[in-house]
Amino acid sequence: MRKLSWRLIDIQDVESRYCRSCGKVVEFKKNGKTRSNSNGKNIYHFEIYKCPNNHTWNKKAKSLTSKKGGGEIYQTKTDRLNWTSVENDESILILIECVFGNWRLDKLLSDNMDGLSRKKIFRLIERGKILVGNQKVKPNYRLRKGDEIRILAGK
Ligand SMILES: [Zn+2]
Repeated sequence: MRKLSWRLIDIQDVESRYCRSCGKVVEFKKNGKTRSNSNGKNIYHFEIYKCPNNHTWNKKAKSLTSKKGGGEIYQTKTDRLNWTSVENDESILILIECVFGNWRLDKLLSDNMDGLSRKKIFRLIERGKILVGNQKVKPNYRLRKGDEIRILAGK
């Protein structure tokens, strides 16, 4: 079984909030960039949001302790998967290391798996060929930290 670990960080977050420069409540969009300040064990992490007029808001996120140090734990990490090799003989186990934002199981897999349509993924989940923590789940299952996705080999 091939073992992977993924970090899921949604960079599409939108938050309504007052923009001082615009003088009104506007929709800030996360632009995917992050800034991290580190003091010893703790990393203070800021997510950079932009209003429609491009004013910046640095949102302070949770401080996490990282064994490795550095801010790299905040990058989204997935691997390109190929359905043909799974179908032939290789089962895959994916550990979800961390989750920020909303991540649907079917969408995550269809975005990262070559040779498989969303419809086919839907069917594999329904048939129990794709499991989360050894359980059958719905295709729209929202992934959580610590989940283990199993993709079972064979047709
Ligand atoms: Zn603004």
